[in-house]
Amino acid sequence: MVEREDIVEVDEALISQCILEESLEFLRDIITTDLVIVGAGPSGLTASIYASRAGLKTVLIERRLSFGGGGMGGGAMHLPTLVIEEPATEILDDIGCRYKRRGGEGVATVDSSELMIRLANAAIDAGVRFLHGVTVDDIVFREDGPRVAGVAIEWTASQMPRCTPIPCS
Ligand SMILES: Cc1cc2nc3c(=O)[nH]c(=O)nc-3n(C[C@H](O)[C@H](O)[C@H](O)COP(=O)(O)OP(=O)(O)OC[C@H]3O[C@@H](n4cnc5c(N)ncnc54)[C@H](O)[C@@H]3O)c2cc1C
Repeated sequence: MVEREDIVEVDEALISQCILEESLEFLRDIITTDLVIVGAGPSGLTASIYASRAGLKTVLIERRLSFGGGGMGGGAMHLPTLVIEEPATEILDDIGCRYKRRGGEGVATVDSSELMIRLANAAIDAGVRFLHGVTVDDIVFREDGPRVAGVAIEWTASQMPRCTPIPCS
């Protein structure tokens, strides 16, 4: 059992320093990448798993502070079950997500939270780097090719309505 005196006192400045140093290292590392995926919904998470496993350095950018997109919580019905059609159960088997077959061949049901967490977990295991709370605003387009060479991003928080300054008299 942990005793009160076992808890190490940590200086708050050191905590901030650790966060800043680690985050800066992370951001520096993802400035150049092979693939950017926009959105941590089920599609983006699934694509990121297989791209990263195939050897591509993959960065997934999500504007919210969560995984699962519109599928989290079960969609518009707000019931915690998602329906998966064959052959997508192969992906469920691959990521270790439990499901039930319902209504005959070709349809399975899955718990929405479990699916999103398992997808996110598999993506992390595959080496995908996540950037949450960041919105992709635009793409960097190059005429040679032509090709998409990157994305323009903005912290989602900075897109929120700014307070209009009230002039003081
Ligand atoms: C109204 C409605 C009801 C539904 N109800 C059900 C249901 O009850 N059961 C069921 O099984 N399925 C339901 N679905 C289907 C299910 O929600 C979708 O199939 C699934 O969520 C699609 O996954 P996705 O990853 O393609 O997109 P989404 O789940 O929409 O994920 C897209 C992600 O991208 C992020 N994103 C978008 N633009 C940007 C940007 N510019 N920068 C950064 N991030 C960005 C979003 O925040 C989001 O997290 C419903 C769909 C709709 C539209």
